[in-house]
Amino acid sequence: MTQLEVTNPATNEVIERLEYTSHEDIHAQIERTHQAFEEWKYKDAHERSAKLLQWATLIDEHQDELARLITLEGGKPLAEAKGEVIYANSYVKWYAEEAKRVYGRTIPAHTPTKKLVVDKFPVGVVGAITPWNFPAAMITRKIAPALAAGCTIICKPAVKTPLTTIRLVELAHEAGIPKDAVSYIIASGKDAGDIFTSHQLINKVTFTGSTGVGKTLIEQSAQTVKNVTMELGGLAPFIVHKDADLEAAVDGTIASKFRNAGQTCICANRIYVHEDIADQYIERLTEKVHDLKVGNGLDEGVKVGPVIDANAVEKVLSHITDAQDKGGKLSRSVEDIQSLGGNFLKPVVIANANTTMKAMYEETFGPVAPVMTYSDLDEVIRIANDTEFGLASYFFTNDYRTGLKLFNELDYGVIGWNDGGPSAAHAPFGGLKESGYGREGGTEGIEPYLETKYLSVEV
Ligand code: NAP
Repeated sequence: MTQLEVTNPATNEVIERLEYTSHEDIHAQIERTHQAFEEWKYKDAHERSAKLLQWATLIDEHQDELARLITLEGGKPLAEAKGEVIYANSYVKWYAEEAKRVYGRTIPAHTPTKKLVVDKFPVGVVGAITPWNFPAAMITRKIAPALAAGCTIICKPAVKTPLTTIRLVELAHEAGIPKDAVSYIIASGKDAGDIFTSHQLINKVTFTGSTGVGKTLIEQSAQTVKNVTMELGGLAPFIVHKDADLEAAVDGTIASKFRNAGQTCICANRIYVHEDIADQYIERLTEKVHDLKVGNGLDEGVKVGPVIDANAVEKVLSHITDAQDKGGKLSRSVEDIQSLGGNFLKPVVIANANTTMKAMYEETFGPVAPVMTYSDLDEVIRIANDTEFGLASYFFTNDYRTGLKLFNELDYGVIGWNDGGPSAAHAPFGGLKESGYGREGGTEGIEPYLETKYLSVEV
């Protein structure tokens, strides 16, 4: 079996070599995870909760180590990586508590001789496939609610960033969670996807990644009618209305757009600013964006790390040059953007953006902020909704009527109003339309791991 080389996107050096899990071993692991389910599902909720809390304690204790791993394999600045560990762990802590709040209900019967009861049961064995952009958070958002619900789970992390998952799973075992209740495999997405979706002992497939791969998994899952949760791509609009607090809007843009070098599914992809304030906004945004220090995420003060690999560099540059060809005004030249070499790209603001530019209708996944102006609120809402995606959207306004109108009319699952960072473990996260279905986080996030059974008793 060939080896997987995990590389550091900041240096392109190999940091670890791992053996791929053979197909035979993946099948054997699925069998063991099924056997573990037969025991884990009978643990009472308080015991599951206690084990999850113990895991959370170990994650807290290993925060620096995990953050360093995230930076080494994924490239994001160390401070941001620490933030990710804390955020990832907030899901473990939240679902440790939610384990104790899986309620059924009784239904008033239509005859005095009957008793009608609804109860919740774990779905079973879960196969999880996750992306590279949040190697800790994307996996705890799945492991924690699955274990809390009484499911057992096999994780397939992205081959670009498997090390954080491996360490998190080791810590789960140290915390006393049975070895086969949570495990990982090292496999390509295609191999894991083919096996997870066709295996009779896998009851659920949960996926975070691109919409294209999500569609393939939905299609494959149809063959065995698997329960699926899909957290897919985004194309977030970011609207700044004329009555917005300009400084807050600029800071919100930076927070939303440049985190993880623009490689988050809820990143502001396309920015729409009212024409009355557009010049001021672009000037202030450009000043702040050009102040962001770019470099190796382990270096002090770095705010923007490398993008994940050479393919990402190429894609982001293609969006920049396409925008330039269609009349976009770049805040720095293409040569300057690439001047640090390797996988580093200096962040750029593109003024004079229009709807024909790729950056306005395709997920860019890079440190690029295209800004288009608008004059009419209804028209900008129409443009914002004119996409197959529906994950996150943002708007900045200090008028409550405008804010409520935008909240009601934007077709997105996650909406930030004067807030560039809306995600939280205690809130439901997920998309509409082709951004997927199912929610992670909040009371909603345990539901995808539960089945409903209804009992009618004739007494
Ligand atoms: P990706 O290419 O879809 O990969 C995600 C995962 O899917 C990886 O583990 C990958 O495996 C696997 N995969 C690839 N081909 C597969 C196949 N045929 N069958 C099954 N699995 C397959 O996405 P990415 O580039 O890693 O991540 C970026 C995307 O994820 C963006 O679109 C972003 O918006 C989205 N995302 C969404 C959310 C959300 O919560 N909605 C969160 C984060 C990211 P390998 O290891 O072989 O690459």
